[in-house]
Amino acid sequence: MNKLSKNDVSEFLRLLDDCDDQVFQALAPVKKRIEILFKRLESRSFGTLEANKAITARIRDLLNRIGFRVECLRDGCHEPAFLLCQGPSTMPQGAFQFQHRYNGRLTAHCGFPTIPPLKLVPQPEDKRRRVLRKK
Ligand SMILES: [Zn+2]
Repeated sequence: MNKLSKNDVSEFLRLLDDCDDQVFQALAPVKKRIEILFKRLESRSFGTLEANKAITARIRDLLNRIGFRVECLRDGCHEPAFLLCQGPSTMPQGAFQFQHRYNGRLTAHCGFPTIPPLKLVPQPEDKRRRVLRKK
């Protein structure tokens, strides 16, 4: 098999970037729809921890599929995060929190009794990809 020259690699990276751009553009109407839905979800709770977990799990699946996260609302943080709902005993319907890596560790910030304002942000870039892009 022929070894690819550096130029070939650049050409294929450019073509792959084109596909990436096309996916990004195709997502625009879906993103708009999700943002409208996020507005409707704001300040809601669905009565039980189980129902709230079902909503946050579905949001997580959707964010994973489109390569987005929501912005953590903790002061000074703003990291791309997933929304999750977990239940301390004082909040039987669960607390809505932002989950993401913080100083290398998985952490949960904030704790809202209802769904907080959700803002779509791109997921953190894969570190392996970043290395290739520099070349
Ligand atoms: Zn945070």
